[in-house]
Amino acid sequence: VRILAYESSCDETSTAVVKNGRKVESLIVATQIKSHQRFGGVVPEVASRHHIEVISQITREALAEAGVDWSEIDAIAVTSGPGLVGALLIGVSAAKAAAMATGIPLIGVDHIMGHIMAAQLTAEIDYPALALQVSGGHTEIVLLKDPTHLEIIGDTRDDAAGEAYDKIGRVLGVNYPAGKTIDEWAHQGKDTFNFPRAMMEDDNYDFSFSGLKSAFINTCHHADQIHQSLDKYDLAASFQAAVVEVLVTKTLRAIKAYQPRTFIMGGGVAANRGLRDRMSQEIDNFREELKPKVILPPLKLCGDNAAMIGAAAYNLYQAGEFADLTLNANPSLELPYAQSMLT
Ligand code: ATP
Ligand code: MG
Ligand code: FE
Repeated sequence: VRILAYESSCDETSTAVVKNGRKVESLIVATQIKSHQRFGGVVPEVASRHHIEVISQITREALAEAGVDWSEIDAIAVTSGPGLVGALLIGVSAAKAAAMATGIPLIGVDHIMGHIMAAQLTAEIDYPALALQVSGGHTEIVLLKDPTHLEIIGDTRDDAAGEAYDKIGRVLGVNYPAGKTIDEWAHQGKDTFNFPRAMMEDDNYDFSFSGLKSAFINTCHHADQIHQSLDKYDLAASFQAAVVEVLVTKTLRAIKAYQPRTFIMGGGVAANRGLRDRMSQEIDNFREELKPKVILPPLKLCGDNAAMIGAAAYNLYQAGEFADLTLNANPSLELPYAQSMLT
């Protein structure tokens, strides 16, 4: 089964050809980051305009790079949500137009299911699996009974982890998106500020990052007022230590409770070196019989890309979950939240 996939939920326009949900035959990512940087964040109107400018071109490129034509495509997949509605609409319209013109079946994919299924492009996922989904808009612990049944067992109460990185990055004068730079700085500093770790003791799998963000910003403003300069590397290291400790502590607790056969990380923040290293080490310390297989996608597949959408779409294809031409963009699409699964 060969799938042509589209992703345009935010500030990356991407197309890919994926075979059997495992093999990336081509992947094109057209990033718009430069256009948004001077605004300090993604401007929806600007995003839509960029998507529309490149989408036809990168459709041809994805097919060419894979060395296939439309007759060799078995399904067309597209992110239908969550994301910016105007941005999503460009991908959804392009996919629908292609499906209508060619008669190839259409599949709508949840962007977060896509992030998690980036793991499937790296190694075989054994089920049940558990995922830590950490990105610009989401921070969730997700339980996977099988490839298409995902349940959120923990969520952020306020900011997403990536959002917190971007906001504190702004205070330090780092260009949007700030995560990668803060991660690099963190490795050159020490955890000297001891920022708060929220909800660590709570008996749930939820997160909160707004208190940490405020503590960080207050520390910087206070230093400014008394004309004291703080070490940006130590600030970054202290912030990252707090984020990583909370994410790792709660995730390990969920792994112990649910005993999944595979543990996955997905989303832009899954590219974080501090988080990847610490999580791998901790799981490696588990007793052999409790140790899940760990899949951390390569950095290129952590951020937004269409290959992950093609991977998730293959599972939906196998389950017979197709869309029709009434498929619409849904900016607030959510995986089902399973309250009953909370222990
Ligand atoms: P969502 O997927 O939740 O809808 P999104 O698509 O905007 O949101 P992604 O593109 O998956 O999010 O991830 C982008 C986020 O990842 C940004 O907030 C960015 O700062 C963060 N990020 C990228 N690399 C790193 C890193 N090495 N460390 C921490 N954060 C990072
Ligand atoms: Mg992005
Ligand atoms: Fe994303």
